[in-house]
Amino acid sequence: MRQKNALMPTLRTVSEAEMISHQLMLRAGYIRQLAAGIYTYLPLGYRVLNKVSNIVREEMDRIGAQELLLPALHPSELWQETGRWDAYGPELFKVKDRHDREFAAGPTHEEVITNLLRGEINSYKKLPMSLYQIQTKFRDEKRPRSGLLRGREFLMKDAYSFHADRESLDKTYEDMYQAYQNIFTRLGLDFRAVEADAGAIGGKGTHEFMVLSEAGEDTIAMCASCDYAANIEMATVVSETQAEERVAGPAIEKVATPGKRSIEEVASFLQVGPERLVKSLLFVVDGEPVLVLVRGDHEVNDVKVKNLLEGTVCELADEETVRRVAGVPSGFVGPVGLKEQVKVLADQAVMQLGSMIVGANEVDAHLMHVHVDRDFTVDLVGDLRNIQEGDVCPRCGGTIHFKRGIEVGHVFKLGTRYSEAMNARFLDANGKEQPFIMGCYGIGISRVVASVIEQHHDDNGIVWPVAVAPFTVHLIAVNMKNEEQSRVAESLYAELKQAGIEVLFDDRLERAGVKFKDADLLGIPVRITVGAKAGEGLAEIKLRRSGESKEVAVADLLNELPAWIKRADQ
Ligand code: ATP
Ligand code: MG
Repeated sequence: MRQKNALMPTLRTVSEAEMISHQLMLRAGYIRQLAAGIYTYLPLGYRVLNKVSNIVREEMDRIGAQELLLPALHPSELWQETGRWDAYGPELFKVKDRHDREFAAGPTHEEVITNLLRGEINSYKKLPMSLYQIQTKFRDEKRPRSGLLRGREFLMKDAYSFHADRESLDKTYEDMYQAYQNIFTRLGLDFRAVEADAGAIGGKGTHEFMVLSEAGEDTIAMCASCDYAANIEMATVVSETQAEERVAGPAIEKVATPGKRSIEEVASFLQVGPERLVKSLLFVVDGEPVLVLVRGDHEVNDVKVKNLLEGTVCELADEETVRRVAGVPSGFVGPVGLKEQVKVLADQAVMQLGSMIVGANEVDAHLMHVHVDRDFTVDLVGDLRNIQEGDVCPRCGGTIHFKRGIEVGHVFKLGTRYSEAMNARFLDANGKEQPFIMGCYGIGISRVVASVIEQHHDDNGIVWPVAVAPFTVHLIAVNMKNEEQSRVAESLYAELKQAGIEVLFDDRLERAGVKFKDADLLGIPVRITVGAKAGEGLAEIKLRRSGESKEVAVADLLNELPAWIKRADQ
């Protein structure tokens, strides 16, 4: 491609972008914003997007998944069948047609694909079957502020698998997992597969693929000794401490704690460590209030609360509910003497305390010497807190530390959640009707593009891995007005194209400084510069990443080039 008439508007500075990938994609002229979270891919950006898509496509095809394209507009009736028309919440873009019928702009396609298969596949003989598409998704995200990392309109690869039995699902899940490893490795990403929560899509058994990056929104708990990695939402906390002895100690004592609300304030006022206090938080799980207890130095994990109760929606109770149940504002709540009887859940570490300090359900007061069982009862005990740095690895006993990550892919075992709700069945080998067992597997194609930049850039711009670079070679003619230079560059351009090399030719009449600055910003892996020595038959070849460079005879360039391309990612 020639740069002279290309739509490649580079900018020296941009103001609005926080994330480095967002800044660089705007500055290098890869994308432009139309509205919050909605972007145009300019020619270079679109080339990168297609590179990523094609790698994903190759690996999906390799494991026997079939590509199709599903509609982006989904009739509301389908989403009502699974209850997600309402449950999906405000992220679902809804539109009406001229007859006032409602549609969703598809954020994900479980309903649509299940609807398709229930009409087309009715025998186990056709199973297993894996289908995928690469398509624009729509989600009305609350905070679409990070460029392509979190768009409201974005490109996703979503695959769905259908099975007659669990073993078959397990096998495809393994294949997908391996395909994802291949994809993210080929894309040059430093990533981890982490154990994760299934979220609104539902089902058990899921992994997220996380690109390690300080800019990530997710926190990953990783072991320093083994390869254990889990989303902190999911990381299992093993109880390593011994239960304290419960001596028949002093009775409950109420103490005044005027103006002390936070755990730290109360602990220092009472001159005890925060681990002697117990936090009591009121949640509402599927409409029912429950009290959750964790030690003062721990954080409640609402996903674990939800899972222990096998619920679907778990939220902190609002002030009104707190006042109804406890008779006080939140911050003074405790398990002893609630106004309304609710289920009490305790983290395992709470159960090990011989005695504890809790809120008194009275403003500015706490209760000391409180004993579980003697003074209040617990309905359910479990692991209900977030893992913390320094905790024990649940797999090997090593030490947990935290890293930030960007979720680029997600593989789920859905089971029969959708096929049951939508009555999608097939006849098994005994002629009996069974619901399809399903899996689903997503990759955020456009988010991947931004993630690659988060990991591959320097102070001067993007540093693309060869596999995703919009072009492999950037050919620069320093001075197009110079006849010699322009002639050599033109013939090199023709030769490179002839040899099947993807080449961008800077044939603009710009100053050399502008051309080199732009070249660094664009991040194409191999640069060939035709300058003052064109007359002597010499050009310069240079790698964007390492900066390695050499003067090469123009006549030898094509022979030498493959070795340089090979080294470009090092
Ligand atoms: P997140 O927690 O980041 O919102 P999600 O769990 O909602 O992601 P999935 O429903 O699993 O995401 O979607 C599959 C993949 O699509 C994700 O792994 C991610 O790479 C990508 N993705 C999700 N939301 C967005 C978005 N708003 N913009 C760009 N990519 C996205
Ligand atoms: Mg989301």
